[in-house]
Amino acid sequence: MQHFISNTDINKNDIDLNNQEELANTEIISKKVSEIRNKIQELLKELDEVVSTCNHQNGYDIKLMSNSKLYSGGLRRMCKICNTPIGYASKEETNAWKDS
Ligand SMILES: [Zn+2]
Repeated sequence: MQHFISNTDINKNDIDLNNQEELANTEIISKKVSEIRNKIQELLKELDEVVSTCNHQNGYDIKLMSNSKLYSGGLRRMCKICNTPIGYASKEETNAWKDS
């Protein structure tokens, strides 16, 4: 079980996004960034949990993925159900994709 940084300190203050002076405050920027990163970590954990319940047995599509923070780009096999990359396209699949 992976532990993430506690965000209890971050939630103590409500941050007013409409107040430009407050936004400029480095402490608030720092807290907001930490809060967003914590949320991303929680969502990634939730995403992993949901994806792990998919057995990827209902076929896949060949799709060209751009590089992202989640996945490296390239021509990938994407599960039809959970839309997660489950492997790289074979040579035959790559050629078929180029011809389509
Ligand atoms: Zn799947």
